[in-house]
Amino acid sequence: MTENNVMMQAFEWNLPDDGNYYQDLKEKAKDLKASGINALWLPPMFKATGTNDVGYGIYDLYDLGEFDQKGSIRTKYGTLEELRELIEELHKQEIKVYADVVLNHKGGADFTEEFLAVEVDENDRTQEVSESHNIEGWTGFNFPNRDGEYSEFEWNFNHFTAVDYDQAGDQSGIFKIVGENKDWSEGVSGEKGNFDYLMFADIDHDHPDVRQELFNWGEWFVDFLPIDGMRFDALKHIQDQFIRDFIDHIENKIERDFYFFGEYWKNDPDENNHYLYETKYHTDLFDVGLHFNLVEAAQNTNDFDLRKIFDNSLVQEHPHLAVTFVDNHDSQPGQSLESFVEPWFKKIAYGLILLRKDGYPCIFYGDYYGLAGENPIEGQKEIIDRLIQIRKDYAYGDQSDYMESEDLIAWVRHGNEEHPGSLAVLVSTGEAKTLTMNVGEDQAGKIYVELTGDNDQEIEIDEAGNGDFEVGPGTMTAWAEKLEN
Ligand code: CA
Repeated sequence: MTENNVMMQAFEWNLPDDGNYYQDLKEKAKDLKASGINALWLPPMFKATGTNDVGYGIYDLYDLGEFDQKGSIRTKYGTLEELRELIEELHKQEIKVYADVVLNHKGGADFTEEFLAVEVDENDRTQEVSESHNIEGWTGFNFPNRDGEYSEFEWNFNHFTAVDYDQAGDQSGIFKIVGENKDWSEGVSGEKGNFDYLMFADIDHDHPDVRQELFNWGEWFVDFLPIDGMRFDALKHIQDQFIRDFIDHIENKIERDFYFFGEYWKNDPDENNHYLYETKYHTDLFDVGLHFNLVEAAQNTNDFDLRKIFDNSLVQEHPHLAVTFVDNHDSQPGQSLESFVEPWFKKIAYGLILLRKDGYPCIFYGDYYGLAGENPIEGQKEIIDRLIQIRKDYAYGDQSDYMESEDLIAWVRHGNEEHPGSLAVLVSTGEAKTLTMNVGEDQAGKIYVELTGDNDQEIEIDEAGNGDFEVGPGTMTAWAEKLEN
């Protein structure tokens, strides 16, 4: 990967269900390129339970908006043809494309089946709360309108571990399927006793036919579409050894550069470390720890010690395996993992992921273009664009940290051969402050100006390379040499 890349999560939860998404995004490709975006993580592109499904209620991994299934040919986002045109345009703009891959569950089955199951305690899935009994569950997938194209595999209850609904008794709950070799997977999160089950019909990754079918599918998928990477959904709920083997399988088959990253939604460095180890460090993970620190710093500003902003973060522990982000489609207001970084703090938060040395930063569509829905929130494209530009122009080389006080941190990037000159960044969550920082003796006599539009001062660097840099209350400033013109 080239230096200082920036990824964008190119969707939020409340996009309209009009099928125009791929076309709209295609129109934006040039602008995104101009803004310095190098890769887009697209929403799940597979046929889901309906066009109003964001894409995580996945029905058919082989239908990318091509077959008349679940009431339409298109997905929420458009048709396969439009998707292909979008990818072509993005590649023309040298923007990579990452697909969101949902391998934990399937929804919208074609028919019910009767099978033995036992209900378990929602809060401790290792505890059975009923006798084993027959239920009628939505586990039959034969994809009549795809009619065997690309794969003839049909799913039945043997391929799943559990469902959340008994049609016969009209009863909701978590019903674990009973049978030979049937149990929750090992190698999933230990939350709720065993967090294998998340939603819909939970795929049984221990079943040999399922493993083979998903490997076949992965191989087919990367051949069918010229994507550049995969984002794994819901890793906490999928057997880690399966993901390790799945990645192995793809890596052995594919000849182009391919990038894997995933969502393991847990604010716990030990569990993240364990997961990275179990998957042989072949998949990056989102930095959930940093996200929660950003939320906390924005919400409880007076009690939060900024010097601890990277504590327990993945980017601190595994700088090369961390996808740093501020918010996403699940953390946005109203969604399942709601934990939204308050708008006033976004500039600081994006400064923290874009202007420092470590992490692969991911910009959230909702923060950039805004969030739709009942309580829309305005996007902050202008300031994020400016920060990306600063990243591309100045955020290079060694980094010196100034962890000054609980409401003031700062750092200097010292540049490199290709990008000489330094960058000084200051964050204050309290009063306006001035901090003396050393940007290097080679900068002596130069005039530094503020690049985010926050401060009009011109600061002269003294003989020793020191400058007295300013930052206003509750904001961030970034300083570099004033250029002619
Ligand atoms: Ca699972």
